[in-house]
Amino acid sequence: MLLRQPGPSGSELMAEQANDDIDVEVLVIGAGVVGIYALYRAIDAGFSARTLEAGDGVGGVWYFNRYPQARFDSESYTYGYIFSKELFHEWQWKEEFATQPEIESYLNHVVDRFDLRRHIHTGQKVTSAVYDEAGNAWVVTTGTGTVVRARWVISATGGLSVPHYPELDGLDDFAGQAYHTGAWPHTPVDFAGKRVAIIGNGPSGAQLLPAIVDTVEAVDLYQRTPTWTTPLNNGPLTDERHQWLGDNWDTVVNVLTTSPSGFLHEPSGKFSTVDTPEQRQAFYETMWNAPGFGKLTMNYYDMTTNRELNLEFCDFLARKVRSIVKDPVTAERLIPKDHLFGAKRPPFVANYYESFNKPNASLIALKETPIVRVDATGIETTEKHRDYDIIVYATGFDFGTGALTRMGVRGRGGLDLSKDWEDGPADFGGFSAYLLPNFFFPGGPHGAGGGNYPRYSQDQVDWITTTLIHAREHGFDVFEPTEAQQDAWMTMIETLAPRSIFSAEHSHYYGANVEGKVRKFLLNPGGRAKLHEMLDEMSSTENYTGAFRKASNDVLI
Ligand code: NAP
Repeated sequence: MLLRQPGPSGSELMAEQANDDIDVEVLVIGAGVVGIYALYRAIDAGFSARTLEAGDGVGGVWYFNRYPQARFDSESYTYGYIFSKELFHEWQWKEEFATQPEIESYLNHVVDRFDLRRHIHTGQKVTSAVYDEAGNAWVVTTGTGTVVRARWVISATGGLSVPHYPELDGLDDFAGQAYHTGAWPHTPVDFAGKRVAIIGNGPSGAQLLPAIVDTVEAVDLYQRTPTWTTPLNNGPLTDERHQWLGDNWDTVVNVLTTSPSGFLHEPSGKFSTVDTPEQRQAFYETMWNAPGFGKLTMNYYDMTTNRELNLEFCDFLARKVRSIVKDPVTAERLIPKDHLFGAKRPPFVANYYESFNKPNASLIALKETPIVRVDATGIETTEKHRDYDIIVYATGFDFGTGALTRMGVRGRGGLDLSKDWEDGPADFGGFSAYLLPNFFFPGGPHGAGGGNYPRYSQDQVDWITTTLIHAREHGFDVFEPTEAQQDAWMTMIETLAPRSIFSAEHSHYYGANVEGKVRKFLLNPGGRAKLHEMLDEMSSTENYTGAFRKASNDVLI
């Protein structure tokens, strides 16, 4: 048991040795959008820093999710970095919503532009991260046998980085090509003239279908639960728009760093009650044509709180589906019956419904005809067997906790994170936890609120960096939220979860897509406001209200 005592202690010498004994002050795990930013901030703040990345290149999800037409559904310039105006001016996105190749190029550009590549070690998948209490250091080991001792670890391992495969009989028996959208091969997949099955109709499956429908011989989309998919309304990023963003850069940055959603969308500014039924229908048409998440952020203020209103909007969307999809049976199958618009993270994709009008595309409704098994030649449902050349699993990820619980994380007192989180993750701020001293995980469970992921993660990384600087200035070398701070945060999560916009309990935000995973809400339902309120409260004293201490003051008894 470890007790904290004021004043000098017998472990001073050990702490001294530990200081000499670390390879690097800050070790970042992961070189995705969040990890690259965390590394940049650490280096910029004067820390020695290093990154270990599992992939053979940088980009994180934008390195691994390279299926055709994988793209942002947040506007490129609101998803990309906003810490450098020069970077913004150097990189003009081609489209409002960029595709994966451009995103990967952008992230590589950032790495080179800020001279980060020499700190990044790729092909280094972390297999264990163990806290050495006596030395106050994290000992991080990778699959290649690399061992790094670090004072601080920032595990930017992502919430959507562990692909989830469905538990289907015979999954490994398929003799054709099988891919997961989240682990796409680097050599292009040739779809020409192939018979293809896509399992899953979330944002990944919905993006892939229109991308390949005109190339393949035939494609079947296996849908378990219909989603409210609406058009992305993409377009080229015009010179005028880029110019406007640059001219208004300070305002743009201010909106992106303070708004609850982290988008630039102009709110409608009105409740539904100000409009007549006819005006509401006209407004829904505007929403249908709004960009991406604008259908949530620019909608009536009461769209997510007024059930009757949301049902009216759903009715409008259902009529849109019926008007696009020529086969009425397919149209009905595509219309969600179990959740309101926005309750589940909606996909925003062009030509999704239109794809089902192609003679070579079919929808297989798994609630009516479930999969019995996969075999060497294809997929058997309760209706019949279908042969395929390619099966694509667009079945999502072990969201939130997937990477962290597979990384062999051992905290103070031998805490085994994978066991500790079996009943759901407990953390503070969505990026730190009691019994995990000096271990941060921005972008982890309870990290994102209901908005643009990178903007939430940026908040976390900024706070972590400020905290490390504070530690250096005040001689603290241990940061660990107290049990009380963690409990207060978790009480907030559990209390507000039912009020979250993404409240459908059968979604991956509750872990419901992974068989056997405990159903706990995995976002921050309090959003930016609660995050900042609780972080400010913690950092209101020099020792962060008990979260900071000096390792030399710890006494082992
Ligand atoms: P997802 O939203 O979790 O969707 C997975 C799909 O697979 C769902 O349709 C699910 O059906 C289905 N599925 C899962 N297990 C199944 C099983 N055993 N049998 C049949 N169907 C099964 O995954 P995703 O589409 O990869 O998206 C995940 C997240 O990644 C998104 O929420 C988003 O944050 C991000 N993403 C973003 C973009 C973008 O445009 N920027 C693109 C792709 C992904 P049920 O609904 O019935 O569970």
